[in-house]
Amino acid sequence: MAEKTMAALRTLFPEKCLNCGSIGANTGLCSRCHSHVRVPSPNLCALCARPLDFTYEVDTGTEYFCGQCRLDPPPYDAAMYALPYDDPIRKVLHAFKFGGSPYLAGPLAQLGEETLAPWLARRKGALVAPVPLHWRRLYWRGYNHSYLLAKRLAGKAGLRVEEGVLARIRNTDAQIGLNARQRGENVKGAFAVMAPAQVAGRDVVLFDDIITTGATVRECCKELWKAKPNSVAVAALCKTWD
Ligand SMILES: [Zn+2]
Ligand SMILES: [Zn+2]
Repeated sequence: MAEKTMAALRTLFPEKCLNCGSIGANTGLCSRCHSHVRVPSPNLCALCARPLDFTYEVDTGTEYFCGQCRLDPPPYDAAMYALPYDDPIRKVLHAFKFGGSPYLAGPLAQLGEETLAPWLARRKGALVAPVPLHWRRLYWRGYNHSYLLAKRLAGKAGLRVEEGVLARIRNTDAQIGLNARQRGENVKGAFAVMAPAQVAGRDVVLFDDIITTGATVRECCKELWKAKPNSVAVAALCKTWD
């Protein structure tokens, strides 16, 4: 259904808030639950965007790194996340992915826009590649949730999403319930760059809806680097930290 029609329908039939159930939500959340969405601290690791346990003055040009990145740097050049993964966002994201509600891409992208749009806009000319679904899962779900979010956020930043660049060539089990090592094993060899010429020499932003242990992202980055991009950065709507 056209987005305009959906918007008009939602005005006529106000939705229930996905967190507390009260009527009158127009971005998936009522205004009270919306005010509970946490925004991450501006003091982040310059590489992996982990919140740092000390504060520093931002925009001075000095970069700070977390202990993990100094010991074992991740396979990307930069990262950014809009929101910590907790309620009420967790509920909205769950409904978006598993509840057959692709229209929630709009409100979710809106929640992430303030952080992600300017960060993406600084990567002029970058290719935005959403983490792909296996064609079988795409068939059952009907949409790639990461693609829908990436398209909206990249659009705000004047970047293009190139969907077919990366493909999931093996249908993996869900990562839920697996530990970090098992997650790494589960996605090993699951991705391939389908259009290496499009990646060579370019700045690439890999986009996912949520990053937990980062096993999927690391595996995608490994494949992307084989196609010799200029840089690889990672962006996601949500991130969990251990
Ligand atoms: Zn609510
Ligand atoms: Zn770090």
